[in-house]
Amino acid sequence: MTIKNIVVVGAGVMGRGIAYVSALAGFQTTIVDVSENQLQDVYQHAKMTSEKGVQRGKLTVEQSLHLLNHLHTSIDLETVAVDADLIIEAVPEKRELKKHVLEIADMHSPAHTVLASNTSTISPTELGSYTKRAEQVAVMHFFNPVHKMRLVEIVKGLETSNDTVNIIQDVSEKMGKETVEVNEFPGFVTSRISALVGNEAFHMLQEGVASAEDIDKAIRLGLNYPMGPLELGDLVGLDARLNNLKYLHETLGEKYRPAPLLEQYVKAGRLGRKTGKGVYDYTSKGELMEK
Ligand code: NAD
Repeated sequence: MTIKNIVVVGAGVMGRGIAYVSALAGFQTTIVDVSENQLQDVYQHAKMTSEKGVQRGKLTVEQSLHLLNHLHTSIDLETVAVDADLIIEAVPEKRELKKHVLEIADMHSPAHTVLASNTSTISPTELGSYTKRAEQVAVMHFFNPVHKMRLVEIVKGLETSNDTVNIIQDVSEKMGKETVEVNEFPGFVTSRISALVGNEAFHMLQEGVASAEDIDKAIRLGLNYPMGPLELGDLVGLDARLNNLKYLHETLGEKYRPAPLLEQYVKAGRLGRKTGKGVYDYTSKGELMEK
């Protein structure tokens, strides 16, 4: 099957990034959100990212214009699903939301359409059960920032067909990504490790083991991670990190219980870069201001 039209649902941190690489790869891409405000930011984000790409010699001006011509927005999933060959949902990590979106996508898209989820933790078998086409449902897990991170983790549910995996693999490669195929376990490979390391860093911060800056520096320079776990949490979104941990705690047990300090930050609205403050403060021109 040839994929031409891709619909991305959710214009947040991940949805925007996925729509960007999709349009850049030449797919007609429509991004859907329930919030007009989120949709208004989509072009701005794509324009800024592609301009930086041109400045750094990663993209030509033609590629950047081509990408903007392939990017569309909509508030109405029901209407745009009708022409979709592949729908990738990237709404928040809440099962009832994913269920709602997948049910609508299933009801309004053609029989051939593949339904993929960018979930960080949720079982693709469970996601497939929300639809009448479980064989065409799989996890297509991108990483943040999507235009820079090279991996897509593909996770098959019990009923997912090999054709579906092949289609997702092919689309991912056209988007310039490498893929790994992972068996179904909560948190797959990457979210499981990342949640554990990120949670441990919050425990250390809470216990006063070191400052946030020194915890991050120790992990970057001592363990050779490209980013410290606390700065990564701010980039991912502390609410997303907490949702992942809650799911892993429920499914895999005690070692994933969220650190109380992380819960407290989320309650306070300190969600990371997207709200201007998380572990660090970004309110002054995006520079780190304080713990
Ligand atoms: P986000 O909160 O930044 O964005 C979610 C978007 O979905 C928002 O714009 C919201 O308005 C929209 N939305 C909510 N309900 C909707 C609906 N019914 N229809 C259409 N749009 C709707 O979330 P995010 O960080 O982009 O995460 C999205 C998904 O990607 C989650 O499943 C998350 O676990 C996963 N993920 C996140 C990261 C990360 O680094 N943030 C990395 C990999 C995977």
